[in-house]
Amino acid sequence: MQTNWLAILLKILILEREKGCNDTSVVGGLDKFMDSKPESGSLDVQYNLPGGSYTGMSVATREKWIDEVILSISQSRVAHPVSVLNSSKEYGLTAEGRKRRVAVKRGYEDIQFDAPVTSLPRISKLMAEKLKRLGVRTVRDLIYLFPRYHNDFGNVCKISDLIIGTEQTVMVTVWEAREEQLGKRRKSTEAIVGDETGNIRVVWFNQPYLARTFQAGIRLVLSGRVGVFKGSKVLESPEYEIIEGQESLIHTGRLVPVYPLTDGLHHRSLRGLIKKTLDGLIAKIVDPYPKSLTDDVGLYPLDKAISQSHYPTDLHQKEEARRRLAFDELLMMQLYVMSRRKDWRQSGSAASMSPNWDMVNSMLERLAYSLTGAQKRCVEEILQDMGKERPMTRLLQGEVGSGKTVVALAALLSAIGNGYQGAFMAPTEILAQQHFNNISEILGGVTVPSSGGTCFKFSIDDRHRPVFVGLLIGSQTQRQKKGIQEMLINRDLDLIVGTHALAQQRVEIPNLGFAVVDEQHRFGVMQRASLREKGGTPHLLVMSATPIPRSLALTLYGDLDISILDELPPGRQIVTTSRVEPQYRGNTYAFVRRQIEQGRQVFVICPLIWESDVLQSRSAIQEFETLSTEIFPDLRLKLLHGRMASKEKEDVMESFYKREVDILVSTAVIEVGIDNPNATVILIEGAERFGLAQLHQLRGRVGRGQHSSYCFLMYDNPSVESKERLQVLENLNDGFAVAEADLKFRGPGDFFGVRQSGLPDLRMAKLSDQDLLSAARKQAAKLIGSDDGTNTVINMDLLTEIERYSSLMIGETS
Ligand code: ADP
Ligand code: MG
Repeated sequence: MQTNWLAILLKILILEREKGCNDTSVVGGLDKFMDSKPESGSLDVQYNLPGGSYTGMSVATREKWIDEVILSISQSRVAHPVSVLNSSKEYGLTAEGRKRRVAVKRGYEDIQFDAPVTSLPRISKLMAEKLKRLGVRTVRDLIYLFPRYHNDFGNVCKISDLIIGTEQTVMVTVWEAREEQLGKRRKSTEAIVGDETGNIRVVWFNQPYLARTFQAGIRLVLSGRVGVFKGSKVLESPEYEIIEGQESLIHTGRLVPVYPLTDGLHHRSLRGLIKKTLDGLIAKIVDPYPKSLTDDVGLYPLDKAISQSHYPTDLHQKEEARRRLAFDELLMMQLYVMSRRKDWRQSGSAASMSPNWDMVNSMLERLAYSLTGAQKRCVEEILQDMGKERPMTRLLQGEVGSGKTVVALAALLSAIGNGYQGAFMAPTEILAQQHFNNISEILGGVTVPSSGGTCFKFSIDDRHRPVFVGLLIGSQTQRQKKGIQEMLINRDLDLIVGTHALAQQRVEIPNLGFAVVDEQHRFGVMQRASLREKGGTPHLLVMSATPIPRSLALTLYGDLDISILDELPPGRQIVTTSRVEPQYRGNTYAFVRRQIEQGRQVFVICPLIWESDVLQSRSAIQEFETLSTEIFPDLRLKLLHGRMASKEKEDVMESFYKREVDILVSTAVIEVGIDNPNATVILIEGAERFGLAQLHQLRGRVGRGQHSSYCFLMYDNPSVESKERLQVLENLNDGFAVAEADLKFRGPGDFFGVRQSGLPDLRMAKLSDQDLLSAARKQAAKLIGSDDGTNTVINMDLLTEIERYSSLMIGETS
């Protein structure tokens, strides 16, 4: 009887989750159903509703409760599938429920990799929402959601050998488990377990329901920290798994995957879901490579690589699996890059422009400084490239403050001198406005009165006609915009400064010969393509401050030529960088205060939290609250995070520029281009969670004026590795050197930070995978070369992969 009731409860709860916990899965509602619970046995209590009523619970609590109950029912082994089937008629499932039940029960045969995750058994809408926050939309995404790392719970040891303070795994029998009241409202589970060498106490805080699951006699694997309580050893909230027959362990007793998490998504449920999905689908995974390729390079087949990445047998196999998947990423990237280069070479031609040194030099003469050697070299490389009919697509790389703007301006002036229009695009309106003002200042521009400040002119000497430069940004009045657009169409405007929207929207630039895009990583393939459609194919210069070692840049941007500014203008401020251990936080705040008293401004950057925008914004809000109420209640603080509207963000930045803000508390969104010479301190929380390259970028936000500047790297959890990593920044100031050092430290994943490169994330490939990289290049060349059908090695699956990859690239900016 009880078994039956539980089986039905299980079925209802699964359905309820599917439907987003809106209490429609059973006629009369869950509360009523719970009333029908049989009055017997010790199993009862753990299914009790917290607070006594389902209706009274929030959706989040409902979901959590359901997860817990489902878990314990399925582990209690009472919910045998047959009993679920047989008893379905006894209780009144709603009509919708009955229909859905079919989908719940269906196996994996019909599931497509590109189908939404909701097509998988037992996935609620709510669950799908949470997965979406991790970037998981399709079944494939889920399978490719690889662990951030693995906990090594593989070495089972004996209770008598447990060492206090370490993480260890034991295989035990439960002697006794009971619910305990610890503190006021915290109910916990306490158990005594043992093996042949002894017994130990185990405590699970806040998880009273476990007491019911762990009945005496049950076998468990436990992995967790060994602590001490009243002089004896105790296991504190260990991961657990019930040992049942042959079933393989997924939560402990092995290398256990640790996935990225988001709000309300628990380790156990995500692990369980991925494991089930893998088990269900692994047989359907087809390797797109011919066997000759995998043999040649020495790679695992795809199915093995995927399953070993999640549940490795040992560390060696885990690494082999990573190599295979890394190779996939690198090959796709190479194929993509190579085919784009081919396209470019075959696309329309651009205007050949001879260097116009008159224009360039008249600008250079006006500068208070002379160009660095690197700047001169880059100007020459660019001007020379513009002389060709093949459209230039060049990347100008140089770290923050290396003086990319004048280099771009020189090239723009040369194009204008050749009779063409130029465009200069920045990632934000504020930066566009800054560039416009800056260019006006450099050139000694005179505002054209009728333009309302959106256009200036200058002439290099009496013999040349004046050059007109305009600004076009979203926040201008309709009249201003219209005026500028008309000038563009009539070819009265020689240079237009704006945001990347210039490329996207229907702004006509009939005579466009040269376009500059600042901060390349925000500028995607799609925008490049639409630029091209503006009339002819302009020469294109994209600028990036992300320092990438040259060898790697060639690989990542194989479709672009590269100029590198590897020399900073003389007299640059070196930003004094220090790691700060938690106990010195107070001193750091005191330092911040003194700087502000001297009239300076400060950035506080909040930690990266997984890859979740929501969590990051939330932590920024919290940090802001704490700082503005507890630490600096008398100072002017403002907040900036990714979930704010862009107008809001720009307003905040604006007031920061105007010195109306002492401390800007921000997520890492400020990384791009903020230039406030009065800001002298950047304090980065949770610094160990950022990549070195990204920290270096952040650090570049200060030290831009004449004041000495400081970067504080705060860290909470100083592992030896993270200390060493951060030390690199204390010692090195050159971005390229930092990038090289980063090569050594980075594990799988995002050298570029989260979605910044303009390329899809490399999740498995490491920068140090040079051998794989060259293998990928070789294979890509072979594949592309053999595209003529004589020696076809590409099969349809591979083509699909490539298309998927390309659409990812194109979709990335939209
Ligand atoms: P970024 O490469 O970060 O875009 P900018 O072009 O904004 O750098 O230049 C940063 C600052 O350096 C500007 O104030 C600019 O005037 C100055 N600058 C550029 N080149 C030189 C140089 N050769 N000597 C001295 N200062 C320079
Ligand atoms: Mg710049």
